[in-house]
Amino acid sequence: MILTQEHKEIKRTVRNFVENEINPHIEQWEKDGIFPAKELFKKMGDLGLLGISKPESAGGMGLDFSYEMAAAEEFGGITCGGVPMAIGVQTCMATPALAQFGSEYVQQTFLAPAVAGDMVAAIAVSEPGAGSDVAAITTTATKDGDDYIINGSKMWITNATQADFVCLLANTSDDKPHKNKSLIVVPTNLEGISFSEKLDKLGMRSSDTAQIFFDNVRVPQKNLIGTEGAGFMMQMMQFQKERMYVAAMSLKGMELCINSTIEYTRERKTFGQPIIDNQVVHFRLAELQTEVEALRCMTYQACEGFLQGEDMTRLASMAKLKSGRLSREVTDACLQYWGGMGFMWDNVVSRLYRDNRLGSIGGGADEIMIGIICKYMDILPKKRK
Ligand SMILES: Cc1cc2nc3c(=O)[nH]c(=O)nc-3n(C[C@H](O)[C@H](O)[C@H](O)COP(=O)(O)OP(=O)(O)OC[C@H]3O[C@@H](n4cnc5c(N)ncnc54)[C@H](O)[C@@H]3O)c2cc1C
Repeated sequence: MILTQEHKEIKRTVRNFVENEINPHIEQWEKDGIFPAKELFKKMGDLGLLGISKPESAGGMGLDFSYEMAAAEEFGGITCGGVPMAIGVQTCMATPALAQFGSEYVQQTFLAPAVAGDMVAAIAVSEPGAGSDVAAITTTATKDGDDYIINGSKMWITNATQADFVCLLANTSDDKPHKNKSLIVVPTNLEGISFSEKLDKLGMRSSDTAQIFFDNVRVPQKNLIGTEGAGFMMQMMQFQKERMYVAAMSLKGMELCINSTIEYTRERKTFGQPIIDNQVVHFRLAELQTEVEALRCMTYQACEGFLQGEDMTRLASMAKLKSGRLSREVTDACLQYWGGMGFMWDNVVSRLYRDNRLGSIGGGADEIMIGIICKYMDILPKKRK
């Protein structure tokens, strides 16, 4: 994927925004356990950064997904995982289906304000009893007059306590699990919706995560995205963009760890020489950077295929898998070279060590990615009749 002048401009805009409007506040937001999504997203909306690949009719830039990936890479330069994850939810996880399948009403009422930064979005798929096994969700949306009545609950929802709407996956019939689901836009101020306390997490401290409860919540049927019963398929498509975003975003975070470790080990001396002068250390850092470059190639190759209209499920799953695993390897290896300083809570490497642990779990765990790759390799054992 060749970066055009326009890609470079977007990257420069994001880099400046991260440096000036985000990174100076990270320490505080991490301490607060939340970042001001509405305030930050409004600033981003004003710069067009929330609608890079969204249609111009909804206020977006109408560019292809490669520009979203270029921006994602720069958001990875944020010195924590929570804020770039929340931005990714807004741009590449909770809104792609609205842009691709949403009616004019859905696009103007929800997508356009999300692009402008006037509404915060969340994606509500996982449930207390169904994370990896999306088909097993039990939240229902039952027709009643012109409305759906929603009952159930959604677990670990990013942006939940600040969200204006969720893109909800719910069962709308008793058909087979892959044919009975629909995506519905649900405003969060409706009667019958309540939230748990903000969940206390190992990492991603500045991102708010909560459980959402739906008790006979009445939503107009016109909030349906696309066709009823096609929700599972649409969500699987939405997951592809999520996984590509996650892979692209992880690159700069890993480089941040490698580069700050280079700086630290150049300064810090043991036995009369800088730590980095030990071959085991500089070799390891070079190996890790090589792995990051390999992931960068794979991620952009997946994006290139997507732009050509190919099915990118296999490569996007590989990129997501590699990103999760490599993020763990890089942060662990770098933390080691910081010694006791690496074990301190506010050190950027230790923060990314905690935050990046989610990469192998959220948005499809490593094992789920491997299962998809096996399916594409046709090596999954056949189901017994
Ligand atoms: C901080 C955070 C933010 C999140 N944000 C969102 C959000 O915004 N929206 C949303 O919908 N969800 C969100 N999630 C949920 C996340 O996507 C799920 O946690 C994830 O999909 C895994 O589901 P689970 O936790 O139920 O794990 P389970 O499905 O219970 O699986 C547990 C573990 O078992 C293993 N496993 C599972 N199935 C298999 C298998 N077939 N073969 C081998 N091993 C297997 C995996 O190692 C997996 O990690 C978030 C989670 C966290 C922690």
